[in-house]
Amino acid sequence: MLRFPTLLPTAALLIFSPVHPVIAQTSPTEQATAPSSGPGVDTAGMDRSVAPGNDFYTYANGTWLKDTEIPADRSTYGNGAMVAELTDRHVAELIQEAAKASAPAGSEQRKIGDYYASFMDTTAIDAAGLTPLKPTLDSIAAIHDHRDLARFLGSTLRADVDALNNTNFYTENLFGLWVAQDLDDPSQYSPFLLQGGLGMPDRSYYVDSSAAMVTIRSKYQEHVAAMLGLAGISDSASKAAAITGLETRIAEAHVSREASGDVKKGNNHWTRADFPARAPGLDWEAYFAAAGLSRPARFVVWQPSAVTGISALTASEPLETWKAYLTFHAIQSRAAVLPGPFVRESFAFFGPVLSGARKQRDRWKLAVAATNEAFGFAVGKLYTARYFPPADKARAEAMVANLIAAFRTRIDRLEWMAPATKKEAKAKLAVLKVGVGYPDAWPRYDDLEVVAGDAFGNAERARLYQLRRSLARLGRPVDRSEWVMTPQTVNAVNLPAMNAMNFPAAILQPPYFDSRRPLAMDYGAMGAIIGHEVSHSFDNQGALFDAKGRLHNWWTPEDFKHFETSAQQLVAQYDAYKPFPDLAVNGRQTLAENIADVAGLTASYDAYHRALQGKPAPTVAGFAGDQQFFVSFAQSWRGKSREPALRNRILTDGHAPPQYRALTVRNIDAWYRAFGVKQGEKLYLATADRVRVW
Ligand SMILES: [Zn+2]
Repeated sequence: MLRFPTLLPTAALLIFSPVHPVIAQTSPTEQATAPSSGPGVDTAGMDRSVAPGNDFYTYANGTWLKDTEIPADRSTYGNGAMVAELTDRHVAELIQEAAKASAPAGSEQRKIGDYYASFMDTTAIDAAGLTPLKPTLDSIAAIHDHRDLARFLGSTLRADVDALNNTNFYTENLFGLWVAQDLDDPSQYSPFLLQGGLGMPDRSYYVDSSAAMVTIRSKYQEHVAAMLGLAGISDSASKAAAITGLETRIAEAHVSREASGDVKKGNNHWTRADFPARAPGLDWEAYFAAAGLSRPARFVVWQPSAVTGISALTASEPLETWKAYLTFHAIQSRAAVLPGPFVRESFAFFGPVLSGARKQRDRWKLAVAATNEAFGFAVGKLYTARYFPPADKARAEAMVANLIAAFRTRIDRLEWMAPATKKEAKAKLAVLKVGVGYPDAWPRYDDLEVVAGDAFGNAERARLYQLRRSLARLGRPVDRSEWVMTPQTVNAVNLPAMNAMNFPAAILQPPYFDSRRPLAMDYGAMGAIIGHEVSHSFDNQGALFDAKGRLHNWWTPEDFKHFETSAQQLVAQYDAYKPFPDLAVNGRQTLAENIADVAGLTASYDAYHRALQGKPAPTVAGFAGDQQFFVSFAQSWRGKSREPALRNRILTDGHAPPQYRALTVRNIDAWYRAFGVKQGEKLYLATADRVRVW
């Protein structure tokens, strides 16, 4: 729902799992440079020979665009990538310092350091061979009946999916668990069960008939056989055929990614007794007991048809096939902490075949990513202590307060929204919980044991710890201050059921935010981002969740109709953007995000003037306050794309390409005044054609 400015691939614990296949492509480069915008307007990156009214994006970014080459290992490059590279470098330094610090035993710093050092100790990992995995392989070999199978499957359940906030729908285990606020009764946590069980990222890899997918499938089967062979398992080729056959049947039971993203299709409550009745096959009692889910009376089953289909397969497919399947996944899911040959074979498939990455990332980068994943908030605590001073937090919180005040005024003035709906909108605004930088209370890692020299055991314990932490939420009051993104993530997220937002410290960096420069530039860049996210709480998506976070539509049909009508102009505006003679931006596909961009920029402009409190804005490099605001906005969208990547994005992304998001300014009257934009210039819109949704 909310991808800003880029979905930075968060470091996966399962380095080789397809959860984040892009990881290998986006390794931080050693020469990572800070974004070029320092504490002033980045005049060096502009092209002032271009009239702002003709091409505002090039006016703000033309020299940077001309002088910047996209690095060879990337398909796009710009602010998002640069800030992410810089942050990755900072995080790597902190983790490596922790490893050298010999901090007191049991301290978070020591655990971080030992986790990293153990992951790096490939000599110990190679020497241990498959010994650490032996108990698991023995348990699989000892499966004799369907009850044993269910028990083993239950023991693999982990808290590794998220249907609504971080929206991660992938797990290699048969099912994934997400413990979150119930969407009918947000005062309680519920266990959400999601489909899983595939070794490749999505059902389409198994069922699509395109030549590319057929090739990937046959390479996957070879990879499965190779992994089994490395582990000394007999009949690896025939077992690999059976395993991929089973996964194909699981994939056929899966619902599509698009359907999984529809919250109204996902909110299905099943009692414990519903499982054997509605999804016969799996011994559910044994499964839940082994998973630590004996107590909950009710579950949310996100993809009911998939759960039914997968459960049936546990009974209909031969037990020996299941045992081979479980053996392969036991090895695959732990490949990162197994000896070198497993690491290399995993990369050979998940790198070049699946993601296009040609070179495995250095071991230390994988170690940083794994440590960052296992101890996300402990690393975040170190990160914010060094890179996010209290003054920055105060400055960003003041921006949030001004933005919320700006929205309140705008909602009051809206003509198209019914009075009762306005009341609900303001109630929602009043309880909105906006987190800035880092959570109020840091999650602790007291019970997560790290053993120096035991990379395998550490990874197992870290994943179990995440599960136990999730299970412990059940039956407790809902904690709306809890964060779902670590502070060192360059991103932002709207948590619709929590009526909350997280703005991590890592996105509060230049060029989005910089406490050394005048407020105008922060509001133009970061303020517009905050406004974008806040507006999602009140738009057609936010309308599904009320002030308490209940899935309950609080808009009237008339509200929806008016919203649609005012949206029509925006659809036409974006349909007219044509980066290629044969391909235009799809105004309908990008509508919700374009509305949020207009709303965010509009509200941030109001908030900026509120922040000035009637005082004149300082001039910087000859630019007046409002000019700084809009230039900073357009510079925040700075980026370049290779043609295939841009085409792909236009076809698949809900957001317009960055160069067009920068042109949101056309809808704001103040932009015309700031730059003297006149009729006849290319970006000029008559007053009636400027879109005002909020
Ligand atoms: Zn958005």
